[in-house]
Amino acid sequence: MDVRIGQGFDVHRLVPARPLWLAGVEIPFESGLLGHSDGDAILHAVCDALLGAAGAGDIGMHFPDTDPRYRGAASATFVGEALRLVRESGLRLANVDVTVFAERPRLAPHIPAMRASLAGLLSADAGQVNLKAKTMEGLDAVGRGEAIAASAVVLLIGVAA
Ligand code: MG
Repeated sequence: MDVRIGQGFDVHRLVPARPLWLAGVEIPFESGLLGHSDGDAILHAVCDALLGAAGAGDIGMHFPDTDPRYRGAASATFVGEALRLVRESGLRLANVDVTVFAERPRLAPHIPAMRASLAGLLSADAGQVNLKAKTMEGLDAVGRGEAIAASAVVLLIGVAA
């Protein structure tokens, strides 16, 4: 059986007066993630994990932040494209596991919505998609509330010919 693992990591700076997008869900908060796209660190980490598992490079290669087409882009587009590359490679998603690191806002109440959103974007069952939120205990830039980070692992399996 063809089994592929991929991992992804992303971090974005929190700045005032921007919407906060995480896992394709807009979270009510006073600041949002700075980025050329919508800054959705969870979707970027998932995208890199998918591309990594498929041996297809990384998000910067496919969607360069120098490309005006991706200014303000919904990161859901990137996930859709990464998923298309996965399928083209004869692979399908077994599962994805994500950890998001944020001091504020408190993400626990938003986990079910973010998890459902991620499952929808990946055309996956809820049981294939897991999402956990951690704080950084007041340490480092995430801990000081200056940024939000996410890491993801993905397992892909070969589709039988
Ligand atoms: Mg990013």
